[in-house]
Amino acid sequence: MKRTCYVGELNESYAGRAVTLQGWVNRRRDLGGLIFIELRDRSGIVQVEVEPDSPAFAEADTVRAEYVVEVEGHFQPRPEGQRKGGLADYEVIASRVQVLNTAKTPPFELEKGEQVAEDIRLKYRYLDLRRSEMQRALMLRSKAVAAVTAFLDAAGFVQVETPMLTRSTPEGARDFLVPSRLNPSEFYALPQSPQLFKQLLMIAGFDRYYQLARCFRDEDLRADRQPDFTQLDMEMSFVTQEDVLEVQERLLAHVFREVLGVELPLPFPRLSYFDAMDRYGSDKPDLRFDLGFVDVTDLFRGGEFGAFADAQAVKVLAAPNLTRKQIDELERVAKQNGARGLAWVKRDGEGFTGGISKFVGEQAAALIERTGVGQGATLLFAAGEWKKAVSALGAVRLALRDLFELASNGPRFHVSWVVDFPQLEFDEDSGTWTYMHHPFTAPHPEDLPLFGTEQQGEIRAQAYDLVLNGYEIGGGSIRIHDPAVQAQMFRAIGLTEEQARDKFGFFLDALGYGTPPHGGIAWGFDRLVMVMAGAGSIREVIAFPKNNRGADLMAEAPSPVDAGQLAEVGVQVASPVRMEE
Ligand code: ASP
Repeated sequence: MKRTCYVGELNESYAGRAVTLQGWVNRRRDLGGLIFIELRDRSGIVQVEVEPDSPAFAEADTVRAEYVVEVEGHFQPRPEGQRKGGLADYEVIASRVQVLNTAKTPPFELEKGEQVAEDIRLKYRYLDLRRSEMQRALMLRSKAVAAVTAFLDAAGFVQVETPMLTRSTPEGARDFLVPSRLNPSEFYALPQSPQLFKQLLMIAGFDRYYQLARCFRDEDLRADRQPDFTQLDMEMSFVTQEDVLEVQERLLAHVFREVLGVELPLPFPRLSYFDAMDRYGSDKPDLRFDLGFVDVTDLFRGGEFGAFADAQAVKVLAAPNLTRKQIDELERVAKQNGARGLAWVKRDGEGFTGGISKFVGEQAAALIERTGVGQGATLLFAAGEWKKAVSALGAVRLALRDLFELASNGPRFHVSWVVDFPQLEFDEDSGTWTYMHHPFTAPHPEDLPLFGTEQQGEIRAQAYDLVLNGYEIGGGSIRIHDPAVQAQMFRAIGLTEEQARDKFGFFLDALGYGTPPHGGIAWGFDRLVMVMAGAGSIREVIAFPKNNRGADLMAEAPSPVDAGQLAEVGVQVASPVRMEE
């Protein structure tokens, strides 16, 4: 290799030595007869100085931003005491500059990357990826993959690839469908997850499995969602929930240590789903700061304030002293999240003013005692059906976090488990019960008798989510390995035997051939890397992401296909209908 090293590797040991470097011209400046070239490669930038009498001068004079160049020269760091912390501290004095390739003028200034409209960055992603932030993010991602792989290989996990062209898997999202040319009028589904396959691998005796699996879900997109995304998918046999959590904790700690040099304190705290919702209004609470709700349902029960008197739950959040404008903004957040309003009061002496203060006379002393609210501080209330009330107040809690930067005083990373999710959830829209995780999740054995009773909503699943800084970065469960329980579960979600057979017949057959107890988990790998990299969106840690309309602006996908191709797969396109958001 001609190249001596990456520019970021130039250190004292190269001082005065001849070096050959290759990369892109980040910037060229002419100053006092000299030409300065900022030479960039994936490791960073070094300044190349070309003197007027250098044999390199003529060629250097032709370079423009983003030209590809090879530079020969000697490395000349400034003597120690004279460094100013800029690029000029470590220069290469060029003796030869060779243009390896020219470049068109880029459509945006790379240095301004962050301020450039995202559509432009995505259209010219290959240029956007030259920016140091993007290089760093993808290299961090690569390191995280290496750390995961090293850990799991050493722990005896077997890496297995599962198919991309398959049939619907039950993760509750819409499938992407692929027509089959060889089987006219039939379709494959792209996997929403390798769920059934990894369970089949347990039935097949592999005992420990993992895969960095590409998954596909046709959902509406948000900052932390992509239609195709990567899961770190794992499954283990002969384990209890405790065993799975323990391995996961060591794995995550290993990844943080290797990639960021951060020690995560073990074990991770655990909250039940109920407690997480009841105290923080979220099943993925951001616990870098506490600010939990206080329950005051009993204080208002049957009282004179109608809205609170017969509410299933009245929860209160002690916020700092808020302005009217801030309260209005928070009320908007509460309403967007299903509340009818956001009641509030401010502490004034031993009582309260403002908002609903005239209704909290009797309760004042108890409110002060339970919430510890200080003088002038604001109490925010949500009341109503429990889940609705806590969810709305949970959104307010996060808005307060952003408003007052509450998370910045806490640890940089906070990881916790949320456990004991409900097995079943009642879907108001369809009026039916549905699974909360997926239909193969095992219930707590002691809750089994509740199937088919009025209380089946109280069945706890052996399901767990891994939560990092308020993001769900993983989720999994112990699986049902008993066909009788599986049948009970299908019945509970209103699947007849035929429907279940129709959807998962092959899997149900397999269950009957000696299925070991097993369980697993999948990490949302993009999301994890996003948080580790301190990025604001998973698009910042995916090389070629889609925008929020699911489009790849660079490759121009999706795109129409020609009639011949459609005919071949036996598909006819009805008049195009745009799905509105
Ligand atoms: N298949 C599940 C998911 O994608 C993960 C698991 O249960 O292991 O969420």
